[in-house]
Amino acid sequence: MNTDSWLRILNPEQKAAVVHEGSPLLILAGAGSGKTRVITTKIAWLISERGMDPASILAVTFTNKAAREMAERAARMESRAEHSVLRTFHSFGAWLLRRNAALAGLESTFTIYDDDDGVTLLSKAMPALTRQQASAAVHKIARAKDYCLGPDSSLLSLIDPDPEFAEVYRLYEKRLRDTGNVDFGDLILLPVRLLAEHPEVRDRLHSRFSVVMVDEYQDSNVAQFELLKAITGPNTYLCVVGDDDQSIYRFRGAEVKNILTFADSFPGTQVIRLERNYRSVGPILSVAGDVVSKNEGRLGKTLIAERGDGKKPVLVFIPNQDDEASFCAELIANSRKKGCPYADWAILYRTNAQSLGFETEFLHRKIPYKVVGSLKFYEREEIKDSLAFLALAANGRDEIAFRRIVNKPARGLGAVTQDKIVDEGRRIIFGGESLDGAFNFDESFDYLSASRRLLETLPKKARAGLSEFLHVIESLRDMLNAGTGQPGAQSASQSESQNGLPSSSQSGSQRASGAQELPDEPPAPGESDAGGGKKGRQAKGAVGLALFVDKMIEASGLLSYHQGQDEIAGTQRVANMQELVNAASLYPLTREGLVEFLEHIELDRSMAAEEEDSDAVTLITVHNTKGLEFRRVAVTGLESGVFPRDDKKGDDLEEERRLMYVACTRAMDELYLTSCAARRLYGRTAFMEPSPFLFEIDSDSIEVLGRLPRSYQQHLSYSAGNRKSGAADSTSVKAGSASPKSGVLNAGRPIPNPERQASSPPDPLQERWKRGRKLFHDDY
Ligand code: ATP
Ligand code: MG
Repeated sequence: MNTDSWLRILNPEQKAAVVHEGSPLLILAGAGSGKTRVITTKIAWLISERGMDPASILAVTFTNKAAREMAERAARMESRAEHSVLRTFHSFGAWLLRRNAALAGLESTFTIYDDDDGVTLLSKAMPALTRQQASAAVHKIARAKDYCLGPDSSLLSLIDPDPEFAEVYRLYEKRLRDTGNVDFGDLILLPVRLLAEHPEVRDRLHSRFSVVMVDEYQDSNVAQFELLKAITGPNTYLCVVGDDDQSIYRFRGAEVKNILTFADSFPGTQVIRLERNYRSVGPILSVAGDVVSKNEGRLGKTLIAERGDGKKPVLVFIPNQDDEASFCAELIANSRKKGCPYADWAILYRTNAQSLGFETEFLHRKIPYKVVGSLKFYEREEIKDSLAFLALAANGRDEIAFRRIVNKPARGLGAVTQDKIVDEGRRIIFGGESLDGAFNFDESFDYLSASRRLLETLPKKARAGLSEFLHVIESLRDMLNAGTGQPGAQSASQSESQNGLPSSSQSGSQRASGAQELPDEPPAPGESDAGGGKKGRQAKGAVGLALFVDKMIEASGLLSYHQGQDEIAGTQRVANMQELVNAASLYPLTREGLVEFLEHIELDRSMAAEEEDSDAVTLITVHNTKGLEFRRVAVTGLESGVFPRDDKKGDDLEEERRLMYVACTRAMDELYLTSCAARRLYGRTAFMEPSPFLFEIDSDSIEVLGRLPRSYQQHLSYSAGNRKSGAADSTSVKAGSASPKSGVLNAGRPIPNPERQASSPPDPLQERWKRGRKLFHDDY
């Protein structure tokens, strides 16, 4: 396709947005109106029509999956778009820091700590804290970073008024800086500081990127806004797109204000609104619009269903969560029989834990599924162990990684010995105290050097264990050096310099000092392949970094350790480690390859969506569905206390309502809403009330099935009464539902029940209702 043909399919507003130049541009539009499509087309247009260097275009989005999809879509229109930089805010921050590590006070090989690592770090710094207290503090520190607040900020009291919090934050920061690593908040906060303190880096960045675009702008937080401001130079063209109705990350510091006040922050901003929805059929948009229109703090938008009328969404009242899972399974199995692929389906839920019931049911019924955005794989013990080993091989100053694996499998190195080594390491590395007592920072010293130094002082068993551990790490590092083709790659014991530095660390610091430029970005390994090469690669024919990871799991003893755990779990664990080896095959066998591999894993596990291209149903939390679309969607667990969660009120309830809007607007053709009468919560069965959002949907917009709870029956009678008496119908056609509702208001309509709805859903469900009635005959 040429430029003309991509532009021709756009509507006039979309086209205007694509060819807009000059002033900052804000595209403010509802779900499915083509915002993301405008960004991808604009990238292609700038390159092919404006002759722009692809590498000078930066597009930022919210999830790794969205970034990959955007890259694919743009490259399909214009192949040179693959040289543009399409990243998440966090991965852009990591990219920038890595290139300016020395200026930012980091190791060039820094690793990214997740919350768990942060809690361990803080617990070590403040042993008096319980794990729970440390976890709460780390959570607050992350919030402070979202708002760009350091420990000395006068506004920190907004996060926690207790002056002790600043002290805890300060200690945490010190300890974190000492490791040379970063946490997630730092990936935004440190670049903001770097650009403020180093105008030369800022200028270089401004001349590198002449176009900056942001998708899902409504979910940016204060720190991300600051970063955006810093990367936008006087000649940068800035375009952001978003939808205030889809702001769903307030709990992570997202500021819907960023989008509402964009024009004030960037003077001269032009605003374009897109009002045609190309994704969903009319009745689905009506339902979504009914709910979100109850929010007060919104701009309000028109959304016309370009696709016109279609199947009404179905609301189903179901006895319990097991029935909910089998209801969904039956829907899917039935549609499959009619030739619909599994991949057309997504099951949405409010919290991750809800996936379990669906997973069990689908496994049982052999319905293929994938859990998107779950941290499960990387949370497994054997994977965390393997990653710790890799992290330590990349960065010998990683205290968390060191502690995690130095004595796993057991090498006779108890907590006391570990503390001794870490204290020695810290004394030299950060204490500035050299052996002759002079003040002397030793940049090359790490926990491995400290281990080597203390070797002779340890009891025999510990000495043997530690010495073997060091040998494994060193021979692994040699493998990386050999992979880089460095001359003189030799065993670390031979290559120790006077201060005990293995040669690999020296080369790391050389790279760090040379890493301050902003070279053209090479396509990141793994991104170019989008996971396609993952499958079918076993260690035997392992390539690239896979050789390294394969050797690591064996030489470290982790393979036999986990194999020996027990027969069944052991096999699983080995298979999981094998998957890690497979994933590494996409990276080169170099130190940089290793660092990049670890970074991608860290970014993926935080946000992201598992990439699977086989035909499978998607199980996903509503938060993770941002920007995605599916032909058929079931939004489950629509009960008060589940969705919306707990006793949400005021702003929090509005955020839950926006989540409901996001959930419904993912559906293209069919939407099912399920609500259970009972659910296992906290280990026992609780009786549930329907979600208040269900009462906000005009009952004429939906098909209602199942045993109606009393409250919903009352709602229907009340609505019917209102109509009879001619009262204004508060939930009739409004913004968000500009397509006509199918059918006229049906005041005398009887209360729907399954017997009267024999046409849909399919037959097997009738059985379930009967069963449900037996179970819950007097609970309604
Ligand atoms: P969200 O708010 O959910 O992120 P969005 O505004 O980014 O949605 P897109 O994902 O860009 O919307 O587009 C929604 C769907 O509509 C996509 O399948 C897209 O290809 C399609 N689409 C967008 N514009 C047009 C158009 N002019 N003609 C036909 N299809 C279109
Ligand atoms: Mg989008």
